Amino acid sequence: MTIHILPEIVAAQIAAGEVVERPASVVKELVENAIDASADHIHIDVEEGGQRLIRVSDNGHGIPSADVATAFLRHATSKIQTLSDLDHLNTLGFRGEALHSIASVSRLTLITRHRDEQAGTRIVIAGGKTQDQRPVGAPAGTVVTVEDLFFNTPARLKFLKSATTERRQITTLVTNFALAYPAIRFSLSHDSREVFRTYGGGKLADVLPVVLGAEAFRHMLEVMPLPASRPDLPEIRVSGFVSAPDYHHANRTQITLFVNGRLIRDTALAYAVTQAYHTLLPQGRYPIAVLMITLPPEEVDVNVHPTKAEVRFRSPDAVFAAVQRAVRSAVISQAPPPEVRPHPDVQWRNMAWSTRRDMAPARADSNESSRQSSLGLEIDSPGYHGQHVASAQPGAPGSAADDDEAFLAGIPEGMGRPSQPRTLPMLRVLGQVGAAYIVAEGPAGLYLIDQHAAHERILYEQFLAEAVARQSVAQQTLDSVTVELPLRDMALVQEHLEQLAGLGFELEPFGATTLRVRAIPAMLARTDPTEAVRLVLADLEVGAPPGQRKLEEIIALRVCKAAAVKAGQVLSLTEMQAIIRQLERSQSPHTCPHGRPTLLHISAEQLARQFGRT
Ligand code: ADP
Ligand code: MG
Repeated sequence: MTIHILPEIVAAQIAAGEVVERPASVVKELVENAIDASADHIHIDVEEGGQRLIRVSDNGHGIPSADVATAFLRHATSKIQTLSDLDHLNTLGFRGEALHSIASVSRLTLITRHRDEQAGTRIVIAGGKTQDQRPVGAPAGTVVTVEDLFFNTPARLKFLKSATTERRQITTLVTNFALAYPAIRFSLSHDSREVFRTYGGGKLADVLPVVLGAEAFRHMLEVMPLPASRPDLPEIRVSGFVSAPDYHHANRTQITLFVNGRLIRDTALAYAVTQAYHTLLPQGRYPIAVLMITLPPEEVDVNVHPTKAEVRFRSPDAVFAAVQRAVRSAVISQAPPPEVRPHPDVQWRNMAWSTRRDMAPARADSNESSRQSSLGLEIDSPGYHGQHVASAQPGAPGSAADDDEAFLAGIPEGMGRPSQPRTLPMLRVLGQVGAAYIVAEGPAGLYLIDQHAAHERILYEQFLAEAVARQSVAQQTLDSVTVELPLRDMALVQEHLEQLAGLGFELEPFGATTLRVRAIPAMLARTDPTEAVRLVLADLEVGAPPGQRKLEEIIALRVCKAAAVKAGQVLSLTEMQAIIRQLERSQSPHTCPHGRPTLLHISAEQLARQFGRT
């Protein structure tokens, strides 16, 4: 092939890929344009997740009729003149690429009337070619309709996710705009159904409950801008809301940051937010935050990324410190002092050995017969709502006994499962060490079994076996349990209703931010259903990493982890036997579903060698 310049249309389609990746990117660019045009009403209509149609209507200043055609040329913008204008940018757009790119990969109709003009203009462009342009009557403002996105770039069309996924992306995006611009009235409709609306009251505190749900909002603390720490540093203002230390999330996805009204991704700043809770949050938990960071435009370079999602700060350390200081101050000044609660994994160490010795095997032996009879029946236990909630306090003998009964709920009847082939030799339970390990003897030596890992393995295989056999997973049905969820989580749940049902979660959307929990997997019967739903949400949010486990498996892992007996829990002999008998017939008894070992084996030879007998 000879070297040649690509036809303009082809070049435009390639360039469009950078800006317009999916329907949500179109919505983002069009809403940014509406905000830049000083609109205070912005309506977004979406059909079929945006693949059929996206329409953004605004009441901004509009485009003068003489400029309409120009607006669609590549690098056409009214927002900057020279590169140095970027130093004091106060608009979201500046690259002059969006309209050009969108028009080259869709059928676009724009109707606009500039505030100071009598007549409006309508222009129709399909696949980058202008089809029609004429004067029309129109209210001041702009309406852009994008139809059949990617109709002329089949490769891109193929990569689009399902309509529900795209819908969710768009909902999240629009709610983020609404948070950043509380003075603008937003409304969003999917397939003619309104899913979201704000009233333009001007305060973040008005919008946040709509987005997060009223329940979560009750746990939020206001972050007030602090006076500058040093006069020689740029003025950095941080405001917004963060969760109180007793309300947290399993990952960082609920930390939402805006810099000068622009949603950004910034791992360092998300870390600054988490750092501000130093020691106040349980390990591995993260806060919920919506923060507005305002600083002089010359302090930020927004021209790092075509979609402008990443920014570069002139003084990143100063921004980091400002965020951390503002959040810390909100958390410290408004949060009640945290409860002192030792980590369950270390609790057993503090417990006197004598207590443990008396509690474990002795108790089991004393009422072996009654315990035995209750074992297989535990699956019908009334669960969380009908019974005492496990208090997981090994120090209190009374409650520990109740716990024993409850955790076995996950072990099905006929606990030996003789139908399964044996994968370990028959073991005899001798006792428990550290309230975490089961000591057992086998024909070939001594075994130490991690009780949590082993139980996780057992539950996991059971769970998957049920799911694979396409039987429904055993369920615990519930009456009148509702969970309040942020709007974006609701969308997430809605998207996965079927998958979740297959895993035993019967959920029903009930109002915009309320979910009715009709059933949860039986093995979670002991767990607070609200907590159970939140656990699973965290996984949905992160999604399945490409090429690795399926989402169902990740959720099954999560459920089993929550349902498995914990380290630090004192077990009776019968309970230990139940675990061991199940493990003996597990498909992969040597590792937990996360891949850690479940058991250590010290052979008779090793013992003999160590004791100098050979
Ligand atoms: P950019 O926003 O980077 O300038 P765009 O391609 O998004 O580039 O838009 C090109 C120009 O069209 C803008 O600079 C603006 O002048 C005009 N424009 C686009 N959308 C609107 C709108 N909704 N209201 C008024 N003017 C608009
Ligand atoms: Mg723009």
